[in-house]
Amino acid sequence: MILDGKLISQQIQEEILLQVNAIKADGGKTPHLAAILVGNDGASETYVAAKVKACEKAGFISSLIRLPETASEQDLLEKMNELNNDKSIDGYIVQLPLPKHISEHKIAEAIAPEKDVDGFHPQNVGRMALNLPTYLPATPYGILQLLERYKIDTAGKHCVVVGRSSIVGLPMSILMARNTVPGNCTVTLCHSKTKNLKEFTQKADILIAALGKPEFITADMVKEGAVVIDVGITRLPSDKTKSGFRLAGDVNFADVAPKASYITPVPGGVGPMTIASLLINTLKAGRGEVYHSK
Ligand code: NDP
Repeated sequence: MILDGKLISQQIQEEILLQVNAIKADGGKTPHLAAILVGNDGASETYVAAKVKACEKAGFISSLIRLPETASEQDLLEKMNELNNDKSIDGYIVQLPLPKHISEHKIAEAIAPEKDVDGFHPQNVGRMALNLPTYLPATPYGILQLLERYKIDTAGKHCVVVGRSSIVGLPMSILMARNTVPGNCTVTLCHSKTKNLKEFTQKADILIAALGKPEFITADMVKEGAVVIDVGITRLPSDKTKSGFRLAGDVNFADVAPKASYITPVPGGVGPMTIASLLINTLKAGRGEVYHSK
């Protein structure tokens, strides 16, 4: 069965719009999300545009702040300081990846935790690990919601996550192991130094592929009946599309789908759920739900 991220994301966006309309009707403040985009990487432009569009559909205010590719780390930190102190903005994101001369760690630490709707600040990562109220990182949060909305039982299941990046694989492994729902999995976290990867993936009841290698996961690596979540998005050249490229996931969909009980497509799986999560986090920020003292 296909896990339809596009559909679930639309449902969530409609639910958010109702809540935003209710806030406005009560004379409350319209949630406001800002995004900083440094440079003009094609994929990042697409992601940011999709986020801005989703904000508008959900009734939010959105602001896109552009800095040139040549902007220094200090320029970005100054802009972030402005946003940290701007009371009209509830939450903001700094679109990754950043140009090489800017430290992503430094940037994650510079965002005010109460405005960190991407959930990248170390304080929010710690709160996530401890199952305290926080902004969950958007992509792993989107996957949790997909599992929840399709009522997939995760307790006691063996979840294998491939990839340990700080924005996807690592937080995903923590979230799946937490004593909550969805969660309570026995988790194995694999990465590029894992020996005999296939031996692990073959044992997964839930397999989450987040390694960024197109169509890497093939049917022989997957257990019959597994739930397969494909996070990967790689642009591959194609002469069949107008844009000149097609999007490929980390899973060879045609090969793996017949074996999987549930599987996410690319596009239309995890990607739209990432956007829905960002909107939920922004709504929470607007309401001061995570940091009450805001
Ligand atoms: P990173 O490149 O930051 O991390 C990749 C991870 O995969 C690393 O931990 C790396 O190991 C591991 N890895 C690489 N090759 C192998 C291998 N052969 N076997 C096992 N592990 C391997 O990627 P991200 O986590 O940022 O992104 C992963 C993919 O997800 C990308 O395609 C990205 O575009 C996509 N993505 C999609 C999103 C969405 O909304 N759907 C959001 C974010 C990302 P090591 O640590 O040892 O280097």
